[in-house]
Amino acid sequence: MDVAVVTVGDELLAGRTTNTNATWLCERLAERGVGVERVTTVPDRVADIARVVNEYRAEYDAVVVTGGVGPTHDDVTMDGVAAALGRSLERHEGALEWLEEEGGYAREDLTEGTADLPRGARALHNEVGVAPGAALDGVYVLPGVPTEMRAMFESIADEFAGTRTYREEVVADEPESALLARIAELRERFDVRVGSYPGEFVRVSIESDDEATTEAAAAWLRERVDAPAQR
Ligand code: ATP
Ligand code: MG
Repeated sequence: MDVAVVTVGDELLAGRTTNTNATWLCERLAERGVGVERVTTVPDRVADIARVVNEYRAEYDAVVVTGGVGPTHDDVTMDGVAAALGRSLERHEGALEWLEEEGGYAREDLTEGTADLPRGARALHNEVGVAPGAALDGVYVLPGVPTEMRAMFESIADEFAGTRTYREEVVADEPESALLARIAELRERFDVRVGSYPGEFVRVSIESDDEATTEAAAAWLRERVDAPAQR
């Protein structure tokens, strides 16, 4: 299963908010063996949201959208998603009932538009905040507030399933350029995907769909690099 993640918010593009939602979602999806093929951040603008969601839903098995969900003037994600799906926005009775019964809110106290979802969408309940999310045609809309987004994702996590992959990391205290020949040989010997991530040390990521292959490849490389000194 391949998915795209779309984070919505002017404040993300301006660098005022760190996009921890994208990182968190990528990690959770990868853990489930789901391939994340795109992470895109778009402004709080209906047309931009609609264009990206429309493109990605044609391309991937699912699109996870977060941010800009709620009844304030700058929250236009539901409009954008509805436009992408060719639906109107409609008050979702089930979501309102849930807010009354489980959330303890009186209907008249809720801001107008709080439970407006694309027509035909399944409401995703917000256990932590107020605004519900929505799921329709492979598009999942989650709130931007991280605690709300995480709780809501957990409630739908089972809908994201991929192939189990096995990953090992080998850390080398050598310049990345010095490792090239060994990494090339590793890739010839073993059917694994290899990533090389320089930093204080070079982290070599080794991944495959087979546990024994991954372990054998990691062991082979570990024997051939200088490990960082124990501190
Ligand atoms: P609300 O209904 O409370 O307005 P929302 O779903 O509309 O929530 P946003 O308005 O987009 O969400 O963002 C609310 C807050 O959540 C932001 O001020 C920001 O702190 C945080 N937030 C939004 N998007 C992200 C993100 N991608 N990563 C981390 N934090 C985020
Ligand atoms: Mg908001």
